[in-house]
Amino acid sequence: MRVLVLTGAGVSAESGIPTFRGKDGYWRNLDPTKLATPEAFARDPQLVWDWYRERRERIRNARPNAAHEAIARLARATDEFLLVTQNVDDLHARAGIPAERMVRIHGDIFVTRCSRCDFSYAGRGGSPEPPGACAVQPTYGRLRSIAATFEKDADLPRCPECHALARPGVVWFGEQLSRNELERVEDFLDGGACDVVIVAGTTATFGYIIDWALRASQDGAGLIEVNPEETPLSRFATRLVREPAAIALPRIVDELAN
Ligand SMILES: [Zn+2]
Repeated sequence: MRVLVLTGAGVSAESGIPTFRGKDGYWRNLDPTKLATPEAFARDPQLVWDWYRERRERIRNARPNAAHEAIARLARATDEFLLVTQNVDDLHARAGIPAERMVRIHGDIFVTRCSRCDFSYAGRGGSPEPPGACAVQPTYGRLRSIAATFEKDADLPRCPECHALARPGVVWFGEQLSRNELERVEDFLDGGACDVVIVAGTTATFGYIIDWALRASQDGAGLIEVNPEETPLSRFATRLVREPAAIALPRIVDELAN
């Protein structure tokens, strides 16, 4: 079986990670869609870092839910599998999806990278290691001091190479998706049509989500949408499941994996 799964904020919301939309997403009365921008970082990097550190903390304390577990089970039961997630948390990884079967199209919140050069540090900020992951161990003096700088709570971290401000390794509104990650999705799509495409917990308001879902499913065959609400993708789907992902996905995976 060849399977593509696309997930968005709705899947993590059920683990207590607030989405950007709605009242829950607001932080200190600020709109996250305005904080997660290069403009906000240029204006007030401390404010943006304070927000990201709180989000990191919340994610560290969250746990994968039944939707994450079900998708990981589907990955184990499938020869050709790719998960494309818009979520920058590590809950899919902690549920057991290996890095080579997952594309994190909006980046990784636990990565800290330079705002100017290519330097990046994949420290996990104390988050539990995903099973089987190769940990970045800051054992050497220089790496240890980078870890200490990047994971301290108060300061604005700076790049050890060029001294520019460091920033979270996520894709902000108005920024390009990583070419590398886009290529990984394209490679999978080029590999042939999927038997099943599941789109869960994303409002599919980004055009590329609809594009990938339709290409992978050959214009909708085997396309399952899991979302309590109607989305722009709904009219293309062959099956609509109007339930939260943590309720619907374990059942759908039971059906598919048997
Ligand atoms: Zn730099």
